[in-house]
Amino acid sequence: MSEAAKVPPRARPGYNRDNAFFRDGLKEGKFLIQRCVGCQTLRQPPRAMCPKCHSFEWDVVEASGMGTIYSYATHHHPPLPGIEMPARIVLVELDEGVRAVGNLVDATDADMKIGNRVTFTVRRYPNGDDTDYPQWKPEQAA
Ligand code: ZN
Repeated sequence: MSEAAKVPPRARPGYNRDNAFFRDGLKEGKFLIQRCVGCQTLRQPPRAMCPKCHSFEWDVVEASGMGTIYSYATHHHPPLPGIEMPARIVLVELDEGVRAVGNLVDATDADMKIGNRVTFTVRRYPNGDDTDYPQWKPEQAA
């Protein structure tokens, strides 16, 4: 058995009727945001009911793919299955106003600064069914 085969795969994210549109959008390279039909409030992560007007009706809009680092953390230890170390984790405020968590890729520690501009990208990791994950990279690397 090769060394790579011994490493457990990256955990698969949940897939349900509330977030299926988001996961499917990633396969097309799109960051889709859930929007309430009743009051037009955007919400991320996806959920069944609007927290503002309590409507269950929603549609989706495609994000511009641009955002700003709102907060961040660098994970050094312990190693996590299928994740490159150090793992640069960012909370991004999208230009549309919602926030999303992801890894900052193609980056250095110097890129981890609150207020830095980032661009959305998708990375596919093998974990039994090749799942797409939303990621971010520094704007200049876009
Ligand atoms: Zn609403």
